[in-house]
Amino acid sequence: MDCIFCQIAAGELPAERVYEDEDTLAFPDLRPRAPHHLLVIPKRHLDSLAGARDEDWPAVAACLRTVAHVARTRGMDQAGYRVVANVGVDGGQTVNHLHWHVLGGRLMTWPPG
Ligand code: AMP
Ligand code: ZN
Repeated sequence: MDCIFCQIAAGELPAERVYEDEDTLAFPDLRPRAPHHLLVIPKRHLDSLAGARDEDWPAVAACLRTVAHVARTRGMDQAGYRVVANVGVDGGQTVNHLHWHVLGGRLMTWPPG
């Protein structure tokens, strides 16, 4: 398996496991773009939201639950935070394993670049 996020999920690549449950994992982004920058992934490989099928929505919901959970435990929920899922080439996705960025600790700008 040459997917780096599958390798992280399997414990074959190092990452601080900020939170995990049966279906999801949260870990810090290697190149943080904000004081708080976590990634949330489903442990089972999915390319992106673009290819999601009916059977994938429970994993998506589980990821969003983990997003809200880690935002709370890292104290981002009071001031607010941003959740981003880059999809495909135009979306700027560079790792083709579905993931959400959870960014906080500073004021975000809009629109994104
Ligand atoms: P995206 O560009 O939306 O596909 O996001 C991929 C993210 O994965 C980038 O923000 C990278 O910094 C991050 N990343 C790549 N490799 C690793 C790694 N081994 N551990 C943690 N984050 C990573
Ligand atoms: Zn994967």
